[in-house]
Amino acid sequence: MHTKASLARDIANCQLCAGLLPDPPKPILQLGFGAPILIAGQAPGRLTRVKGLAFDDASGDRLRAWLGVTRAQFYNPALFSILPMGFCYPGAGQSGDLAPRPECAAHWRRQVLAQHESLALTLIIGQYAQQWHLHTQANLTDTVKNWRAFWPTSLPLPHPSPRNNRWLKANPWFSQQVLPPLQARVKQLLGKQLSGG
Ligand code: SF4
Repeated sequence: MHTKASLARDIANCQLCAGLLPDPPKPILQLGFGAPILIAGQAPGRLTRVKGLAFDDASGDRLRAWLGVTRAQFYNPALFSILPMGFCYPGAGQSGDLAPRPECAAHWRRQVLAQHESLALTLIIGQYAQQWHLHTQANLTDTVKNWRAFWPTSLPLPHPSPRNNRWLKANPWFSQQVLPPLQARVKQLLGKQLSGG
């Protein structure tokens, strides 16, 4: 049985996918075992691997705007835990990045989540995370449209990447109907945490 410290150390040293990734393994996540909000994403991209910081890009800027939080709040592990489905950059395919390595969720995800003590909201970004967390095979648009079925403990989101601008434009209900309650809930949860309540 892992302790929190041994889990963090063993993930940092994980070599399970060595030889299956384009580079040596480099897990990029933010372990916030006491955070109220979990961001369940896909996998780091190539630039994120270089920078070593999750969502330190245009996608992250949009995600923070959706949540209504500052960078300092976002990168505070007392507030946010950030766990992609694959912790390491999986490499590029013909149309975007490859899928997260399946070994990662199979080996790490349940034990990492079991160490989270006070999750109140899980933001589930993209199809791979939605399949795992929500046990759905529906496509992303249908899953996000059905967001009320998972609210208020979970919320499926599209990826905030600029590559999704067309999706966001075609689905204006997302900004109109989903973001206001999301921002109110994040504010409530962070307020509780920041005031120690
Ligand atoms: S993707 Fe996950 S399982 Fe694979 S090497 Fe990286 S941390 Fe380990």
